[in-house]
Amino acid sequence: MRPAYASLDARALRHNLAQVRELTSARVMAIVKANGYGHGLVWVAKTLEGADAFGVASLEEALELRAAGIRQEICLLEGFFEAAEIPVILRERLTPVIHDHHQLEALRGAQSDHRCDAWIKVDTGMHRLGFDPAEVPAVAAELKASPFVDRLGLMSHLASAEEDASPVTLLQIEALERLSIPGFRRSLANSAGIMRWPAAHADWVRPGLMLYGVSPLDRSDAAPARLQPVMTLRSRLISVRRRKQGDAIGYGGAYRCSEDMPVGVVGVGYGDGYPREFRGAASVLVQGRRAPVIGRVSMDMLTVDLRGVPQARVGDEVILWGAGLPVEEVAEAAGTIPYTLLCGLTQRLPRREGP
Ligand SMILES: *Cc1c(COP(=O)(O)O)cnc(C)c1O
Repeated sequence: MRPAYASLDARALRHNLAQVRELTSARVMAIVKANGYGHGLVWVAKTLEGADAFGVASLEEALELRAAGIRQEICLLEGFFEAAEIPVILRERLTPVIHDHHQLEALRGAQSDHRCDAWIKVDTGMHRLGFDPAEVPAVAAELKASPFVDRLGLMSHLASAEEDASPVTLLQIEALERLSIPGFRRSLANSAGIMRWPAAHADWVRPGLMLYGVSPLDRSDAAPARLQPVMTLRSRLISVRRRKQGDAIGYGGAYRCSEDMPVGVVGVGYGDGYPREFRGAASVLVQGRRAPVIGRVSMDMLTVDLRGVPQARVGDEVILWGAGLPVEEVAEAAGTIPYTLLCGLTQRLPRREGP
């Protein structure tokens, strides 16, 4: 069997949810969109049975959760995309976010005997989805009168929560507070909002990244929570050879050996979701020691400099990120954010529960 896989630590996932609860008394909507940030939608939801609700990006994801027996509230963070989804949402008691007039219009024409809860998305400054604050009273009145809607809430999303002392975030918090409608629950904070902005916690928080043990804040910032990585991307050395001074390694001969040195081949590549482009130096862990990635990353393999681990042998385990090597660090070297690395893992990569 090909040795690349992602191990998933259920204990760490539950620990991170407990860390969220230590930071806030708000209710917790665990965000599991994009296949649970690459960890597996159903596995994450079942492991986080203590969450008060789940947040997904599509009806398809919500139905997969219901089919797996998830009974909690499931929020459709972008609501519905077409009118045909409405009867299914009502039947399955999903909770759509209503962010646009075209959705109100579709709801007016719906036919169903069922009802659901809904969130009204308010644009407090992100300028992506949501109604203008000035439109909200009219939207709220219409939805209150709708035969399909029970409980309502106001949801907004922070644009710059990971920045310390961002004036934008303060304005967003104030804008949502000014809108408060009696009986409406309110939700604003993503992971960065939970970690940095207690004033943004409101009634419901919506952690994604931090549940997976990854911080949205700069690595230089003091971590307000003790998060543990849930995923460790693992493979093995499938070849170890001594190369000669001047040997060029891999496609394009992009790396040239400055001396005689051991070079290892790791059985993982961009076909698994490991990044191909790096700005800074990336490394992996072999026998707990760092080995720099050298040359170009291939689809199924990559090469590492084993001078720092001269006793390395074929079959040794290699950690690409996770335990002992934060994915935040790999993301920084790749000039991206940890979100894209986790979500970018491909389907062929097996996920297995274990530490
Ligand atoms: C993805 C998402 C979140 C979670 O964001 P993190 O930064 O991963 O915590 C919260 N709210 C909404 C609306 C989202 O789309």
